[in-house]
Amino acid sequence: MPDQALIEKMTAWRRALHRIPELGFEEHKTSAFVEARLREIGLTEIRTGVAKTGVVATIRAGERNKDGAILLRADMDALPVQEVEGREYGSGTPGKMHACGHDGHMAMLLGAAAILNEQKDKLKQDVVLCFQPAEEGAGGGREMVEGGELDLAGISQAFAIHLWSLYPAGTVHTRPGPIMAAQDEFTAWFRGRGGHGAAPHNARDPIVAASLGVVALQSVVSRFIDPMSPAVATVGSIHGGSACNIIPEVAELIGTLRSFDPDVRNLLRERVEEAFAGAARSAGCELEFEIRPGYPAVVNDAESANMVGSLAGRLFGKEQVFESPPLAASEDFAYFLQKVPGAFILLGAGNEERGITAPHHSPRFDIDESALPRGAELLAALAMDS
Ligand SMILES: [Zn+2]
Ligand SMILES: [Zn+2]
Repeated sequence: MPDQALIEKMTAWRRALHRIPELGFEEHKTSAFVEARLREIGLTEIRTGVAKTGVVATIRAGERNKDGAILLRADMDALPVQEVEGREYGSGTPGKMHACGHDGHMAMLLGAAAILNEQKDKLKQDVVLCFQPAEEGAGGGREMVEGGELDLAGISQAFAIHLWSLYPAGTVHTRPGPIMAAQDEFTAWFRGRGGHGAAPHNARDPIVAASLGVVALQSVVSRFIDPMSPAVATVGSIHGGSACNIIPEVAELIGTLRSFDPDVRNLLRERVEEAFAGAARSAGCELEFEIRPGYPAVVNDAESANMVGSLAGRLFGKEQVFESPPLAASEDFAYFLQKVPGAFILLGAGNEERGITAPHHSPRFDIDESALPRGAELLAALAMDS
């Protein structure tokens, strides 16, 4: 357990970061704050401006007897959400808010940095502390991993903790294998020929085509995907037309695809396009289809996930550790785990008694700060034990 002074500092760091939310790749104040705290803690090997606004610091092991290094990652960005009013340490920027807990992630990683720097003489492997920008959709993780600025060749294992308000504060949840889904967005334009609503035979109706498309989509997962492989195909937006008696030129569907297995992901993309193309053809229309690939699935290495489970059990008690179900949300720590073994961990940060139950990305989102020391302790222990 971190000492009281460090616990108080971590809470203060989290609140200070909560007041200065910045969106992906704009984390300039955030990055300066992180760098200043790392220097206060006593770290000297610090790189800033990694993947634009990221910060990477290294702690050298005093008893280095293993090749490689352990990477610990925290994400840094906030969301375009207006926080509810009246909070003591609420967002200081209208329209922006740390509504996913990334402020807490940075506080935990700073806490781990303080613990590890004190014990660096006993470290057997170097530790790389990675503060990553732009997790919420802009692909900061991909930029860090694939942009060449962060060399993962020297990393033997990588870990990240995400605070989770839907689980009780302090509980630890992970699993071997896929834990978060791959995500793709699509837009389908059904192009017909506009005309009078009373003379549909002279037109080609894209509303009918798009409607058939929505129905055809429903059988993609149920008839083409192995029932043992989770997948979701959802249309979240449908638009077309402007008046009761006009057949429009075009109707548009926008939606999301979620899956855990790369083969299922490819199959899903293909079959959805095929289902829409068939729907368009049968209504005499043409299809234009665009896929915008999102993050791949987060796939935990079994050994690393088991290591988290046993370590957390030893630190906090077995009753605090749970096997997480796979979640249909997505996360760009996926790019790290495509290159090196490791584990993504959910740390409970909810507290029903204190009314901390709002889901992530909600304007009422909050965390129970009692989870922060636990997160720092777990990250530090993973680095010490690896
Ligand atoms: Zn989020
Ligand atoms: Zn998040």
